[in-house]
Amino acid sequence: MEQRAVSPETLAAQALGEVDPASGGLAPVINPATNYERQPDGSYREDRVYTRADNPTFEHAERLLAALEGTGCSCALFASGMAAATAVFQSLLPGDHVLVSRILYWGVRKWLAEFALTWGLDVEFTDATDLAALAAAIRPGRTRLLWVETPANPMWEVTDLAAVCGLAHAAGVRVAVDNTVPTPVLTRPFEHGADLVVHSATKYLNGHSDVLAGAVLSARSDPFWERIRSWRRNAGAMLGPFEAWLLQRGMRTLFLRVHRASETALAIATHFEDHPALKAVLYPGLPSHPGHQIAARQMSGGFGGMLSIRLAGGAEHATAVLREVRVFKRATSLGGVESLIEHRAHVEGPSSPVPSDLLRLSVGIEAAADLIADLDAALDAVTRGTAARSAVSPAAAAGREAGP
Ligand code: PLP
Repeated sequence: MEQRAVSPETLAAQALGEVDPASGGLAPVINPATNYERQPDGSYREDRVYTRADNPTFEHAERLLAALEGTGCSCALFASGMAAATAVFQSLLPGDHVLVSRILYWGVRKWLAEFALTWGLDVEFTDATDLAALAAAIRPGRTRLLWVETPANPMWEVTDLAAVCGLAHAAGVRVAVDNTVPTPVLTRPFEHGADLVVHSATKYLNGHSDVLAGAVLSARSDPFWERIRSWRRNAGAMLGPFEAWLLQRGMRTLFLRVHRASETALAIATHFEDHPALKAVLYPGLPSHPGHQIAARQMSGGFGGMLSIRLAGGAEHATAVLREVRVFKRATSLGGVESLIEHRAHVEGPSSPVPSDLLRLSVGIEAAADLIADLDAALDAVTRGTAARSAVSPAAAAGREAGP
């Protein structure tokens, strides 16, 4: 009888179910070697020469992530999400026209603004949620890449992946999707036509706020993929084996963590949607969210652990809420087991397009009731005017400027 293929949850929980051949150990060994011995005839045992190119520990984590993102794709880990993202752009050629969604992780936008011009790329920001605008922005024969993120940081706008891939492919444009926020648990972009998937593995994939890592995956092994791999090898943007090992351990609980964070984020968004201290709750799981219908079609099993709230009382109330919270941690980043809150406009710095009344929440795996009570108490103190006054500036309360 043909063996039934197991589901991604099972593959993740068992980290592919591979047993160490030397010891029978269920946990993979960490292979820290930087170089590999040549046989007397000059050949290498497994074709590995030097760890900047190949290493069994990160190959295991790569195979696991590739299995989660979809059959047949290839994966390359990088030293960080930014190293992964920039490897894609740096594999393009000077003069290439690149379309990038207007709302996206600010670090990518900042890098493009500072470095893409000197690299010779012609970068144009467009609204990826507006298909007519996107179609008009594509320059046939010149546009080489469309970069989208969905739900997109920190407004959580939703891009219709199948629709943008259809438009892009008709004009020969490759589509790269930053899948950091939904993770393959909720969205598998290759199934919607994406050519490349990018991750900050620092976030949900590792999930414990203790590893910096990134990944690029490709639907096919073509010359562009070879260029990305060659960039990693030659520029040395590799992840270390210890981090790769921690990453595979983190991925084992990915499904549990993402489902739990999604459930709690939906509970928080629903609870606070009509709160008088708030102007808006931005969460794709709310039927009132403009991208809800697309998200419901494109995401399965939840809408993710990220949401933002906009304070009716503006920036002053936003920073007052930051001072009041006790359970949410005032910190940047996302996707860890602990819930985080931050003032994105201050973190991103003066060029940020994010409204100053916005707080971004990364929901962890704590008890939903504790998080709701914490935010309720903070909003209550702010509305009643009893919030603690602080000697520190709003920027300092929100965190050092220009963080991640
Ligand atoms: N993409 C997204 C959506 C992110 O949120 C981040 C970091 O916050 C990155 C990419 C960059 O990842 P890293 O911080 O691992 O370099």
